[in-house]
Amino acid sequence: MASAAATEPTQTDQLVILGGGLAGLSLAIQLKQRQPQLAITVIEREKHPVTEAAHKVGESLVELSSHYFSEVLGLKQHLEEKQLPKLGLRFFFRPDPDQPADERLQKTIEFGAKKFPSCASYQLDRGIFENHLAEVCQDLGVIFIDNKKVIDIQLNKKEQDHQVFFQDLETLEKQQINCRWVVDACSRKSPIKRQQGLDIESPHKVSSAWFRIAQKLDVNTLNHSKEWLEDHQGDNSRWFSTNHFMGEGYWLWFIPLASGSTSIGIVAENDRHPLASFNTLDKALQWLEKHEPLAASLINKHIDALQDFRVLKNFSHDCEQVFNKNRWFLTGEAGAFLDPFYSPGSDFIAISNTFICHLIDTDINDSLSFATNCLMLDMFYLNLFKNTSVIYQDLYPVFNHPAIMPIKILWDFSVYWSFTAFLYIQGQFDNTESLFKQRRHFEDIGVMNEQIQQLFKLWAEQEPAIANPLYIDPFNIDFLKNLNQGLKKDFADDDAFKQQFLNNIQGLKSLYQMICKTAYQRHPELEQQIAPCAILSEQIEPIAEVESMADLLGQLLPA
Ligand SMILES: Cc1cc2nc3c(=O)[nH]c(=O)nc-3n(C[C@H](O)[C@H](O)[C@H](O)COP(=O)(O)OP(=O)(O)OC[C@H]3O[C@@H](n4cnc5c(N)ncnc54)[C@H](O)[C@@H]3O)c2cc1C
Repeated sequence: MASAAATEPTQTDQLVILGGGLAGLSLAIQLKQRQPQLAITVIEREKHPVTEAAHKVGESLVELSSHYFSEVLGLKQHLEEKQLPKLGLRFFFRPDPDQPADERLQKTIEFGAKKFPSCASYQLDRGIFENHLAEVCQDLGVIFIDNKKVIDIQLNKKEQDHQVFFQDLETLEKQQINCRWVVDACSRKSPIKRQQGLDIESPHKVSSAWFRIAQKLDVNTLNHSKEWLEDHQGDNSRWFSTNHFMGEGYWLWFIPLASGSTSIGIVAENDRHPLASFNTLDKALQWLEKHEPLAASLINKHIDALQDFRVLKNFSHDCEQVFNKNRWFLTGEAGAFLDPFYSPGSDFIAISNTFICHLIDTDINDSLSFATNCLMLDMFYLNLFKNTSVIYQDLYPVFNHPAIMPIKILWDFSVYWSFTAFLYIQGQFDNTESLFKQRRHFEDIGVMNEQIQQLFKLWAEQEPAIANPLYIDPFNIDFLKNLNQGLKKDFADDDAFKQQFLNNIQGLKSLYQMICKTAYQRHPELEQQIAPCAILSEQIEPIAEVESMADLLGQLLPA
């Protein structure tokens, strides 16, 4: 797949992307569609086509990234025909080991949709997807060089081009390419991050082991009663979800893949579950047998069809800077990565790629604003990352709490659908002027989020961990259903959009007040432990959709 053009040492208006994985290839497509005159080269270490199924993790997309790949990049047809539609995120809490195995999941708390929501999302087979992305790139005129490794970079300042040095992995021949812009999309091997000393150690100490099995492992088969499938869209509805089995200090995923395989992963806090306790296949199977016997029963039947087994220690990592005024940028995991719970990895790719496109547009059309824009978008991106980290940091002990964790999920879904996903899908991340005008609201959401996550942590320590069996369908909750439906709404004009965004913020504030007040009524001492927040005493018009959620909280919290 290599092209001779890439060996030319110098070419004006050249962009080189280091690493042709999810972030690098999708950025090449996005940029080429916006700036067809740009010469774009992607240098990828792996030989294409890559293996299907057992390629990489990052298979579960949520609404923001689904919109990015299908609408922004225009890959809807591929997603609908070659990947799988997704029935949202689904969570099972604390199955009671004393219940008969085939009734256990029904007699616990299950959180997940029964029918596909109006706003589509997908499960990605990463091998199939990256092969397709590379083909789309080449059809658009991007030079895609596979089987070559980036070995060095010389970053230059002012108007001087950068130099990228790479090597053919078979012939060992070395080549050089010069470019105006360089994007590092090499994931955690990021050469620019290392060279510039940008790495920041994350305090979130979590590790993972995952594997793929060439079989359809369907959690629906773990129960045989009629009620288990009542009102579900099809007999294998749950199979289409990203299924999370929630445990003490850990969670387990089951993700279906279009190639017919199933992806399974353990994600655990190092303190409670050191990676050494599940870092080989045998140890992982034993670990599953002990902590998740139901899931283990499904896996063990098909272990002969195992396709791979991988581990990653301390996957969370932070970064000092991702967009630099000397025309170099980091995207995807080369920058920062938090935690795969709620599948935010591809969302961050969509956001950073959109910002990089915006910055390159600015450098071409309005170069005087370029340095300031770099600074502002860099701060914005890293702040968003920081504000999202509070959702995960120190919260693994809450993950298994059968009353508090569903309330946390209600809150986290509400923030995502009324804020991040809403603004991205409505095109606001590509309209930075308008985005920065919303800063006051970002600050309010940041404050509420930080406080409430702290509350969940302390509340879970006080609240008895008793699971009243309950099925929670987010789309039976009007507040969540309307937020999800509102993600793709066509607004008549900018004022109508802004009004909806203000309504979303009011809804969040109202939910915030309701959750805090419920917690403080039950455990007054909690109020003393959490810094006071002015939003708690703001006068907010009652919102019927939020008030009706009080019943659900009552069902989750034992009298
Ligand atoms: C346990 C776990 C589970 C996850 N689950 C999800 C999920 O469900 N949903 C989600 O959205 N995200 C998930 N993520 C995050 C997701 O994996 C990443 O967001 C995504 O893969 C990052 O894409 P990328 O392009 O940055 O990296 P990659 O896709 O890894 O691409 C980097 C590319 O750079 C190439 N490369 C590296 N070094 C060089 C070099 N020197 N020269 C040339 N090429 C090079 C590599 O070969 C590779 O192809 C998960 C992450 C983890 C750790």
